[in-house]
Amino acid sequence: MACVSYPYEYDAPVSQTLFDRASLVTPGGVNSPVRAFRAVGGTPRFMVSGAGPYLTDADGREYVDLVCSWGPMILGHSHPEVIAAVQEAVARGTSFGTPGEGEVALAEEIVARIEPVEQVRLVSSGTEATMSAIRLARGFTGRAKIVKFAGCYHGHVDALLAAAGSGLATFALPDTPGVTGAQAGDTIVLPYNDIEAVRAAFAAHPGEIACVITEASPGNMGVVPPADGFNAGLKEVCAANGALYISDEVMTGFRTSRAGWYGIDGVAPDLMTFGKVMGGGFPAAAFGGRADVMAHLAPVGPVYQAGTLSGNPVATAAGLAQLRLLDEAAYAKVDAVSAEIQGLVTGALTKEGVAHRLQTASNMFSVFFTDDAVRNYDDARKQEAFRFTAFFHSMLASGVYLPPSAFESWFVSTAHDEQALARIADALPAAARAAAEATA
Ligand SMILES: *Cc1c(COP(=O)(O)O)cnc(C)c1O
Repeated sequence: MACVSYPYEYDAPVSQTLFDRASLVTPGGVNSPVRAFRAVGGTPRFMVSGAGPYLTDADGREYVDLVCSWGPMILGHSHPEVIAAVQEAVARGTSFGTPGEGEVALAEEIVARIEPVEQVRLVSSGTEATMSAIRLARGFTGRAKIVKFAGCYHGHVDALLAAAGSGLATFALPDTPGVTGAQAGDTIVLPYNDIEAVRAAFAAHPGEIACVITEASPGNMGVVPPADGFNAGLKEVCAANGALYISDEVMTGFRTSRAGWYGIDGVAPDLMTFGKVMGGGFPAAAFGGRADVMAHLAPVGPVYQAGTLSGNPVATAAGLAQLRLLDEAAYAKVDAVSAEIQGLVTGALTKEGVAHRLQTASNMFSVFFTDDAVRNYDDARKQEAFRFTAFFHSMLASGVYLPPSAFESWFVSTAHDEQALARIADALPAAARAAAEATA
């Protein structure tokens, strides 16, 4: 894909040098595809430090960060209490390969916050969490098939890489080589927000579907919240057919409320997955749910699952410190910051006459460049993504770091203060104008 340059792109010579070095030793110069700016063109910024709502790149430029590491940094960067907890943990040693108190405390915190989670197992990434939850659902039910929704992303699990949203939306890969027919053949992909399609799938495959997995409120095709009653409908259909309802809260968990999306819609899943916020910026994730289902996991039950660094003491210390700081006041702050930025963005775009839909799920939000409501992945793909490209580069040039794709949620933190909001407000008029003037 071409590296496009835009009139408002300024030089980033040190990032460019690092990117050139990186591209020699790492495919595409990045360790996770969406970081490469391929959807928007230009040179990805190599960041050297973060403090509060700001990131500083290798060329010494500061940005207001609206990505927040794709969600985890809900307290902002380098929060002093999280850093102190990490330093204290590191000083005691970094990995023991034995149980430790930190992982017990983190599991207790998760179980205390989220009622449907009676037991939880810690892993190191959201991908591992969903992979393990699917295996457990299959082991528990003795069934092979799984249902997922187009545009929902659940990590790069082989069986779940069908119609998987952002990274894949960005690259327009309908499928990925390397996933065999056998690995994906038991995956049924349905349109999001279509409960009749779910009923039809169960009718067509009686006794064969182990689980339905869904993002609790999708953020990986842009923000597309569940229609009223959709999650409750999934739970009901699963229960009626002996299948498990798995709610993937890797993105929404501990972000959209104290108890994640469950705290908002109150629909109790059989299994849930977590990551991002719960790791406090470190690789920590989890899956959990009904105790009778979790009892099927090794070493109690027959379904195998393991991890050398699972429950790592430094990662659990960071996650625990972060969760303990996330009280109701913190969520009220994140919600207020989000609402203010939403107002600024939609105000600027409206002023320039740019057709757009701002969609929200609690404090997660994204902008679709279209007039129409976006209820599923097909709707999302109808937007004029070229307008986002122009908007993105103008914001970047003005010192605001947005997700480098039109198919991603924006994330804010408790650290986004008046000064950071003022910088966003200052950057928006030119970006809205660039979006208005953009051509395909
Ligand atoms: C980020 C994400 C994942 C994958 O988590 P990783 O830690 O990147 O493996 C899974 N599900 C959802 C909903 C996510 O947003």
